[in-house]
Amino acid sequence: MVCSEELECVICYCVYSRSEHIPRVLHCRHTFCSVCLEKLASQRGVVRTVCCPLCRWVTCTNASLSLPGALWVNTDIWDRISEEQLEEKSLDLDLDPQKLKKHM
Ligand SMILES: [Zn+2]
Ligand SMILES: [Zn+2]
Repeated sequence: MVCSEELECVICYCVYSRSEHIPRVLHCRHTFCSVCLEKLASQRGVVRTVCCPLCRWVTCTNASLSLPGALWVNTDIWDRISEEQLEEKSLDLDLDPQKLKKHM
């Protein structure tokens, strides 16, 4: 079981979401939100590096890829977001709940 604490980014304490604070996994398997990862990332020539603040492992990605394209989404957390937050989010985004159900 994933405990509820893991649904928050340990850096900014924001709850993960599908639009802004997307949970992404570094190569060391630690998960942070996409906003913090953008801040952690630094580009060195053709390589973008992200140093994990928890274990200091340096994840290298291809700088020609965007960070979202280079790192995997934490699907465990992503699935939980869809269950727990989509209804609230749909109000903000002005989505038709009927369409949303068909889409899923
Ligand atoms: Zn964060
Ligand atoms: Zn790590």
